Amino acid sequence: AANQVGAASNNAELYRLIRDQAERLGNLLRAQQVETTKNRAILEGIADGVLVADADGLIILLNSAGERILRLERAAVLGRPIGEFVGLYGAAGRAWIEAITRWSLDPGSYTPGEAFSQRLELEDQRILAISLAPVLTGDEYLGSVSLIRDITREVEVDRLKSEFVTMVSHELRTPITPIKGYADMLLMGAAGQLAPLQSKFIEVIKNNADRLNLLVNDLLDISRIEAGRVEVRLQTINLNEIISSVLDTLRVRSDESGKAMTLTAEVAADLPAVRGDYNRVTQVIGNLAENAFNYTPPGGTVTLQARPEAAGREVVVEISDTGVGIPAEAQPRLFDRFFRGEDALVMATSGTGLGLSIAKELMEMQGGRIWLERSAPGQGSTFAIALPTALVEAEAGA
Ligand code: ADP
Repeated sequence: AANQVGAASNNAELYRLIRDQAERLGNLLRAQQVETTKNRAILEGIADGVLVADADGLIILLNSAGERILRLERAAVLGRPIGEFVGLYGAAGRAWIEAITRWSLDPGSYTPGEAFSQRLELEDQRILAISLAPVLTGDEYLGSVSLIRDITREVEVDRLKSEFVTMVSHELRTPITPIKGYADMLLMGAAGQLAPLQSKFIEVIKNNADRLNLLVNDLLDISRIEAGRVEVRLQTINLNEIISSVLDTLRVRSDESGKAMTLTAEVAADLPAVRGDYNRVTQVIGNLAENAFNYTPPGGTVTLQARPEAAGREVVVEISDTGVGIPAEAQPRLFDRFFRGEDALVMATSGTGLGLSIAKELMEMQGGRIWLERSAPGQGSTFAIALPTALVEAEAGA
């Protein structure tokens, strides 16, 4: 009897243990289900499309925004290889797949923070932005998450804005020409002798028309660049020639404005020819030289230097001045649109703050670079540009 009582109490103990365990597991499962449902609801709720593929590239999730944006039925894509339908989207789709394949084959090739983004232009004129990131735990690749957003409207608004800026700048340019022209004619005495005060006033009109012209031209340049309407014609060009013509222009300015400056060029004797667009390179070097001239007090020096670098693979042109310089905190923003410094000489000079941003875009379009080499307040500045030599380009093309 004692044995039986002992066994019964053991069983009761065992039964309680099992029931407790089962209850705990049940709770865990329920919590997990709640969590999963919550996550699904969040994924369903967000306005961007989400597409998740597993380590084998099979689609395991597509939320309803994704269905709507990609115009795909969830049932038709779940469990299918992602490559199968991404292939429908042409070259952009191929790049999308390549990124996934690269990460799945070699998770180590992924640098944290790296995200692949791409624009897809669909046949029905819609434009999608795709961002893609891998899901990794340590070195193991679990799959990829693609975020898909319909940006057709944003792109359209952006295009309208650029078009508006282009139209306004064009319209503004038309009246500036006669204002300048007639002011010039008055100054030349074409309508009779002017009293000194009259001359002075017309001079003010003319200077402001010049200033307006500068602004409008910069705006036109920016809007053309934005609209992708600037074409660069890469040719073999001689920087020596450009540097002399830029210096000649500055000499004329120096004479006309009565601001005496030392303007010099130091060009390496064996300077190789480079690949670039003659007019655009002239514009960029001209702009840098003009800044150097503007932001240097009278009596200063502007030097244009050119020399081969990177074992003759590129030519670097440096534009140095002995002017006001640029404080360290302003340096990272120099190439931002509309950025202008706060130095008294800068404030007194008319400018748009667009010059350096345009120069940067133009250099990049030609496969070149532009940067601030060094500068400190009161110690002058040195800007530099680099272009590939014609020989290097020819090798790359061969
Ligand atoms: P802008 O000359 O019309 O102001 P930029 O884009 O050419 O526009 O230049 C932006 C700013 O960078 C200038 O306002 C000035 O503060 C600073 N900067 C550019 N070049 C120089 C220079 N050579 N010396 C000192 N400051 C400069």
